[in-house]
Amino acid sequence: MPIRPENKDRYPADWPAISLAAKEAAHWRCACTGQCGRGTHDGRCPNRHGQAAYGTGTTVILTTAHLNHQPEDVRPDNLVVMCQGCHLHHDRAHHRVTAALTRAADRAAAGQLALDAVADLAEPTEPVMAPAVPAAPAPAPGEPLFLFTPPDNTQPPEVRS
Ligand SMILES: [Zn+2]
Ligand SMILES: [Zn+2]
Repeated sequence: MPIRPENKDRYPADWPAISLAAKEAAHWRCACTGQCGRGTHDGRCPNRHGQAAYGTGTTVILTTAHLNHQPEDVRPDNLVVMCQGCHLHHDRAHHRVTAALTRAADRAAAGQLALDAVADLAEPTEPVMAPAVPAAPAPAPGEPLFLFTPPDNTQPPEVRS
């Protein structure tokens, strides 16, 4: 899952191996049984790595989540393999998603694509960062606020005989 710059040093050096082992132990299926809190799957999430996610149809990329959000805590009890949908929802409560996606975009731009970083490129299930929409220029003083031609009421309606 995306790693915030300020948290990078909190991950153990062998985190990629730990994360990979967790995914293998989960048989490459999301192991979330509701920890994500999104409430869209009963029991264990059906999403499998590389297959279409339920609901969205986007390709599932498994990640490894820390239940307590402490990156240095890699005890098996604290780790749950999650699809990106579950992981994003799990992290959302901690206000991490926006920063994580920014970080992921930065890393992608830098070409630093590692195995886990590929997960960062997965489409979020919901747009987190809306692109900035340029504001329309403010009308100059005295300029009409409308662009349509107002109806011309200066002439009386034509009288039919
Ligand atoms: Zn899931
Ligand atoms: Zn879940």
